[in-house]
Amino acid sequence: MIHAPRGIKDRIPPEEDRFLALLSVAEEHLQKAGFKKVGLPIFELSALFTRSIGLETDIVEKEMYLFEDKGGERFALRPEGTASLLRLAIQHHLIEPARITRLSYQGPMFRHERPQAGRLRQFHQIGAEILGAITPQDNIDLLVVIDSISQKLNLPGTTLFINNMGCARCRPVFREALVEYLEAHQSGLCVTCQKRTATNPLRVLDCKVPDCQPIIEKAPSIIDFLCETSRIHHETVCSGLRNLSIPFTVNPRLVRGLDYYTETTFEFVSDALGSQSTWAAGGQYDGLIGQLEGPDVPGAGFAIGMERLSLLAEKAGTLPLPPDYSQDISIIPLGDLAVPLAQSLLRDLRSAGLSATGIFGATKIKQGFKQAERDGSRFLLIIGEDEIAKKELVVKDLLTSEQIPFPLFPLTSLIDHIRSVRDLKKVSPIS
Ligand SMILES: [Zn+2]
Ligand SMILES: [Zn+2]
Repeated sequence: MIHAPRGIKDRIPPEEDRFLALLSVAEEHLQKAGFKKVGLPIFELSALFTRSIGLETDIVEKEMYLFEDKGGERFALRPEGTASLLRLAIQHHLIEPARITRLSYQGPMFRHERPQAGRLRQFHQIGAEILGAITPQDNIDLLVVIDSISQKLNLPGTTLFINNMGCARCRPVFREALVEYLEAHQSGLCVTCQKRTATNPLRVLDCKVPDCQPIIEKAPSIIDFLCETSRIHHETVCSGLRNLSIPFTVNPRLVRGLDYYTETTFEFVSDALGSQSTWAAGGQYDGLIGQLEGPDVPGAGFAIGMERLSLLAEKAGTLPLPPDYSQDISIIPLGDLAVPLAQSLLRDLRSAGLSATGIFGATKIKQGFKQAERDGSRFLLIIGEDEIAKKELVVKDLLTSEQIPFPLFPLTSLIDHIRSVRDLKKVSPIS
């Protein structure tokens, strides 16, 4: 048997329905906040991600699914949505420097992560980006949207961490101080951190290796290095959150795993799943749009990890219920004459808005019954020669065992009856 690749999570019924219902909860919140949906491709030219996410990052160094097509071009399965969304927005001239453009996306992302750490290699994200003449208030608005989703689902154990990564003016000053500090502590750092001290020192703050932690904890704090503009930006975001009574903790070590962030960055973390897990994250990026040859304007955005959101909502007991799985009617045709009649009835019942399946392979009525139960049907219709001759349909209510006759033409009375029963009470599946 061929299994799914490692790190892939299949969703079987009714899980997929619940997943999609949860996705619509998130989509609704984004839509209410003015975000217009875009459809992003699953793969892009790999250069898009190396240029935007940064070469010295875990994603680009180790985690991208890369492939070359028959034309010799290098592609990557998208490891995240922002770069792809910006590429789309730039290509279609959706960004106007003096205006605000709000776009959202959702879909699977792909990273070659270690499945033993509970990480999925295909995971689903819903994300939103505000592009153009953005302000600190737009960052606050992003946080409000995520917080409203958290409130709606009553997510347990959630903390909002925020940081300010500085801007093109103050970040280099901090970087220099950080490098100086890290160089003085090289011997205590892991091999990756030693290498990254020279290539991408901010990433050292992301390191999870236990030996590196005491050094990281005493490292200089970005907050102390913010220029006037960045400091005002940071304070505006903090006071905005206080005004809205959204609790948060400033975490100067929060640098996110990507190179493009500037100014505000944030993570929504929950401890309800055993270890600390980030279920939503994002921030501002001042230079990224220009770097991808778009207008030189900033943007800010976030992504929500749907699998984690789903686990947290499940834990909170707020995962949306799947749609009613009980099927309205199953039809068992007996004999050659009954089959075409059953097929046309199925079509008519479905076009009347009912759910109906035919049980064509049943050689015994009992077998047909079992299938109808498995399908969760409320009604069962057996069509034999008698029924055809009398132009009458005898429908069995599988819940009450009542047998009710209906005329074959017109079907209206049967349809009306099923509808009235269904609307009266959403019946759970029989099996
Ligand atoms: Zn600055
Ligand atoms: Zn390290």
